[in-house]
Amino acid sequence: MDVISLFKKLLSFKSITPNDDGAMEFIKNYLSDFDVIETQKEGVKNLFIYKKFSEGDHLCFGGHIDVVPPGVGWNTDPFTPVEKDGFIYARGTQDMKSGLAAFLWAMKNAKNFKGTLSALITSDEEGEAIYGTKFMLEKLKEKNLIPDYTIVAEPTCEEKFGDAIKIGRRGSINGVLKKIGKQGHAAYPEKSINPIHKVAQVLHKIAGVDLDSGDEYFAPSKFVVTDIRAGMEVTNVTPGELKMMFNVRNNTHTNKEKIKEFIHKHFKDMNYTLELKQSAEPFITNPDSKVVKNLDSAIQKEIGLIPKHSTAGGTSDARFFAKYGVKVVEFGVKNDTIHAPNERVHKDEVIKLSHIFKEVIENWS
Ligand SMILES: [Zn+2]
Repeated sequence: MDVISLFKKLLSFKSITPNDDGAMEFIKNYLSDFDVIETQKEGVKNLFIYKKFSEGDHLCFGGHIDVVPPGVGWNTDPFTPVEKDGFIYARGTQDMKSGLAAFLWAMKNAKNFKGTLSALITSDEEGEAIYGTKFMLEKLKEKNLIPDYTIVAEPTCEEKFGDAIKIGRRGSINGVLKKIGKQGHAAYPEKSINPIHKVAQVLHKIAGVDLDSGDEYFAPSKFVVTDIRAGMEVTNVTPGELKMMFNVRNNTHTNKEKIKEFIHKHFKDMNYTLELKQSAEPFITNPDSKVVKNLDSAIQKEIGLIPKHSTAGGTSDARFFAKYGVKVVEFGVKNDTIHAPNERVHKDEVIKLSHIFKEVIENWS
């Protein structure tokens, strides 16, 4: 089976989170000479397949079979891949059945590997992700099967195939700040404490402010206000409380503690409460590590381009690997139609991606 036939087969599974629609069974049969570990919890399926060729590094490919619901606006059936002008249209073409097809094909067709080769595939990356990759990694930890290196095949390219790999991701911290005041009549401001006026005095010192200056790989962590509300939509009462919500996409230089100090510096004379929740941790993989170098040189060999090392965008399952000390990078096709109607990918990208992964496996050093 060539990689495009494999790709089309994967696209035909109606695998909307967390349903795999039989895709895991198909993948197991496709790589039937690999050992299998599976988990299933709360409707989420995870599949880990591995093969020890020799002593050496453990390289794992990471991915998800699930896709987001198609939504409206499609010109063709989202689960029937259609080819037009070199593009293939279907839900999941970019995010991320192209990546999945490319590494599964490479794992089957690579002549050898110096070490253990594996793949971790989940049916819940787009959802809550509680019983997905994270859950499987806990199982692998118990069995001493945590990989040394992982390539997550999420779509990473920006303008042109091969122009970017991700070597890290920012984290995400959500915050809720409540400024307590004292409700009163608008005509007697001296008798109340108006939280809107209080917050207005410091808002310009926090809104949109950079909490660090970033570095070579990360943009600064910015304090982004997402919601401010207070009052009863009347003009004669000043409110007793103001609630402000915010988000910080944090790099490795800013954490919850630092945000707490930052808030306190500006609100210390006020009565306030603060809740902070880290929904994702930031991580960075050293660009000098093997997996980055091997991937870079395979990309260069296949398309004559050295990719940039990016950390932009939201979060992905790569963060779960990073937590176990795995050196993890992400590389896949262009991502200009992900989650949109008429999602598509150019056939050439899928073929080149499969060659690059095969090259990485065969020339691992
Ligand atoms: Zn994805």
